[in-house]
Amino acid sequence: MADRRVPGTVTSFIGGKWLEPRRGAQEIPVVHPADERQVSTLIEADADEVDRAVTAAVDAFREGTWSRASVEDRKRVLLRIHDLIHANRDALVDCEVMHTGVPIRQARDRHILRTAMNFEFFAEFISQAAAPCYEQNPDYLTWVRHEPAGVAGLIAPWNAPLALASMKLAGAIAFGNSAVLKPSEMTPLSFVRLMEILRDAGVPDGVVNLVNGRGPVTGAALVEHPRVDVIAFTGGTATGRQIGAAAGRGLKKVVTELGGKSANIVFADADLDRALDAALVAIFSNNGQQCLAGSRLLLQRSIADAFIEKFVARTRNLRIGDPFDPTTEIGPMISAAQRERVLNHADGARTSVDIEILHGGRTWPGSDRGYYVEPTVVRAGSNRLPVCQQEIFGPFATILTFEEFDEAMAVANDTEFGLVSYVWSRDLNTIMAAAEALRSGIVWVNTPLTRELRAPFGGYKNSGVGRDGGEWSRALFTEEKTVTVPRRDFPIARLGARHGVGPP
Ligand code: NAD
Repeated sequence: MADRRVPGTVTSFIGGKWLEPRRGAQEIPVVHPADERQVSTLIEADADEVDRAVTAAVDAFREGTWSRASVEDRKRVLLRIHDLIHANRDALVDCEVMHTGVPIRQARDRHILRTAMNFEFFAEFISQAAAPCYEQNPDYLTWVRHEPAGVAGLIAPWNAPLALASMKLAGAIAFGNSAVLKPSEMTPLSFVRLMEILRDAGVPDGVVNLVNGRGPVTGAALVEHPRVDVIAFTGGTATGRQIGAAAGRGLKKVVTELGGKSANIVFADADLDRALDAALVAIFSNNGQQCLAGSRLLLQRSIADAFIEKFVARTRNLRIGDPFDPTTEIGPMISAAQRERVLNHADGARTSVDIEILHGGRTWPGSDRGYYVEPTVVRAGSNRLPVCQQEIFGPFATILTFEEFDEAMAVANDTEFGLVSYVWSRDLNTIMAAAEALRSGIVWVNTPLTRELRAPFGGYKNSGVGRDGGEWSRALFTEEKTVTVPRRDFPIARLGARHGVGPP
């Protein structure tokens, strides 16, 4: 563990400078979830401080060094950010593991790579993006300008702090906006280094500002600020409703990426070895704390018993432990509250006649410190049970069985969420029919988690409103302006110009 890479105090970064801690400011401990040790202190930004950050963003936007910079200049800076993230990878990884407890191999090989890739992707996107031009009316030429929307308020969750926040941040600044970013109050550490990377890469002062603090204090002040033009939010569904309502009151553009309870459907004709590997990845990677988790495993009855036996055996074998150990596969939950949420569902399962606990369901006995739970597998008799309907957001797999295709689709869609569905089959007709029937923003066929940044990403139903990804991020972070110009002089009705009266 390398505490020296972890900032001891985290304040706001406004106008290119770190603020000194304010007298009387709320201090929030930042804790390493594997041993419950306080590793840093967050100094919460209040509404005044959020106002300073927004003002810095507005000033930078109006001043125009970034908002009116050429695409080539912005692209060069974004690519430098990509390179500097790679150059600072170890330090960023240390911070991500320290505040999330995500196993170091996943932080290193997925989160940090994705963070760098987000900046590279938008650098390339803006350099290739075109805008429509309409010539159908022979008298006019009409074209569309994508202009930066202004100041973007970006609110991120704790489960993959840099990877998720940077998708929004890279999109916002690629299109010329200024931004105020608020990470989760539990995971502020890696953003300190990220701000320094942005500055070193040449992002002008005030274009990206960072405020830290709790949602109802710092986050709410940002969402409600009248000079914030766009809100991009990733987090829980209940919070998403509040943010959507606040953004609606302010008539701000908003995208919300929220929770999930995704079905991972395995048909009997699937490549069952691959489906097994992928089912474990889908629910247990990131300590099970991911919106995309394949948390409801739907197995066709004929293969269910054998599949379950192997799934449980592999779950038993998972290496739980210190997230800084490169062999660890499951680390601790982010917080005591998150551990309680998982354990409460396990307690509910133990007392339900409709649920059989196949493995886990208790605090992990391997450590007396840290927010560890045992990876848990249950078999549920009905999809209406809480373990099938509520997002648990932990290493908790719920297994259901089905007889035939229509039943699988009905069960998969019987949820308030609609983020992702996974389908495992070798039959093209099954795959195509499922891709149509499933009510979710993403369908992954014969693959676990994979993200195509060019394609829209987001959820149906209570999994969110709107999408991000290439074109869809541009739609959020720009205003579209339609410009119409006549191609030649054409007669204009001369109202009030009666013959011989008035000006010629
Ligand atoms: P959360 O909703 O508690 O918090 C998310 C962020 O919102 C944090 O920064 C928090 O401080 C802030 N916040 C909370 N209340 C606020 C308010 N009233 N006003 C403004 N900001 C506020 O979510 P979380 O616990 O950090 O993250 C877990 C949730 O995020 C899960 O439900 C998960 O499914 C979801 N998630 C969704 C996606 C996706 O892309 N769809 C990705 C990751 C996580």
